[in-house]
Amino acid sequence: MDMLLVVSRFLMNIWYKAISSFYMNGILWFIFPSSDECMVHHCGFQGVRTVYVFHLTLLVNSAGHIWGKQVWNTGDLSKNNWLLGWIALGEGWHNNHHAFEYSARQGLEWWQVDLTWYVITALQAIGLATDVKVPTESQMRRKALKKY
Ligand SMILES: [Zn+2]
Repeated sequence: MDMLLVVSRFLMNIWYKAISSFYMNGILWFIFPSSDECMVHHCGFQGVRTVYVFHLTLLVNSAGHIWGKQVWNTGDLSKNNWLLGWIALGEGWHNNHHAFEYSARQGLEWWQVDLTWYVITALQAIGLATDVKVPTESQMRRKALKKY
């Protein structure tokens, strides 16, 4: 495999974990607010967050190749799984991810919940994200298993 591809996948993996850790931690803080006096409580949730994100990554890369629907011709077993889409912050639309690996948006349909894409959209709206890539209509037509 091309060394550049290996390195870029490695960096993307770290980036994905960092981003998902960042807002998983925020969600947990919102649900279970802790105070400064209670560091044990806070550190406990750091551990929960780390375990959650690590297991989600593995779950997407295993279950996301077994259960769900395939809508794009990717030549592999990747699937779109709505449950993974919800709990893995959009990465569960794994067939979409395999078909358009450059896309910042994984939930390509309006009904495909993609929390990561919503954050990117907000960052784009305030000018902190630029040159955001999504698949074009012709790219989607070329990869579609059914008529698109
Ligand atoms: Zn995969």
